[in-house]
Amino acid sequence: MFLEEKFGLSGKTAVVTGGGSGIGQQAAIDLAKAGAKVAIFSRSGAEETVKIIQENGGKAISLIADVRDEKAVEEAFEQVVNHFGGVHILFNNAGICQHKSALEADAEEFKAIMDTNLTGVYIAACAAARKMIALGIPGSIINVGSISGKIVNLPQEQTSYNASKAGVIHMTKSMAVEWVKYGIRVNSISPGYIKTPMGDVPKEMEDAWMPMIPMHRWGHTEELTGMIIYLAGPSASLTTGQDFVIDGGYTCL
Ligand code: NDP
Repeated sequence: MFLEEKFGLSGKTAVVTGGGSGIGQQAAIDLAKAGAKVAIFSRSGAEETVKIIQENGGKAISLIADVRDEKAVEEAFEQVVNHFGGVHILFNNAGICQHKSALEADAEEFKAIMDTNLTGVYIAACAAARKMIALGIPGSIINVGSISGKIVNLPQEQTSYNASKAGVIHMTKSMAVEWVKYGIRVNSISPGYIKTPMGDVPKEMEDAWMPMIPMHRWGHTEELTGMIIYLAGPSASLTTGQDFVIDGGYTCL
């Protein structure tokens, strides 16, 4: 009863972008375990995630929506509202990575990262906020930044990715302040190295990183979802415009 009051998401609907794998998949599964109905947006479908949620007794749907496509995202939110009756939570997670330095990449490659990681996060956040405002829902939006948006994280040279994630963290603060008047909270999480398909880096890179992490290990997707559930739920009612780092101590050094 106490845990349900503080952290329960029964009766809420959560949209998870990029919920077909990695961090988004775990977030979708655990948001459903906390009681939320879940809609997953991705380019290639998230049937496996939906199946896992349904096997656990939860409710979920998968919708094809590319976060770079404003119209497709708006339509997907419309479908979510028609299907589940509202939208209360957005876990704004879809992202891509590029292991190239500023000089190795060109402007088109830079823009490709920005299109998904920054513009895509903007598009989904605004589409969610428009629905929440129209329905009078005091929702919670959780954007996904990265430690790469806070520090320059050698030995990985990836200016475009770093810039996109710094943009997400500051955009989060701006949206949080602009949307207080609607009762919408906006926060971000900044994970460190998490074992996912994106985090599947060459062994040399892994060997270079591990000594730099005080915990000397990869993080696991399950180690992020407690924070996501907290930020989505009633316990975080005073929390907005903040970035939460979950990185095994990496950014302390
Ligand atoms: P994954 O590659 O496992 O998952 C990313 C998901 O995003 C995929 O399921 C993909 O699905 C979806 N996606 C990509 N582009 C789009 C798009 N244009 N529209 C809709 N969906 C899209 O990566 P992670 O789980 O590791 O990463 C998730 C987030 O966490 C990213 O924002 C990443 O930058 C961030 N992050 C990851 C860290 C890590 O160490 N793993 C560390 C810090 C941050 P599909 O291809 O079907 O569209």
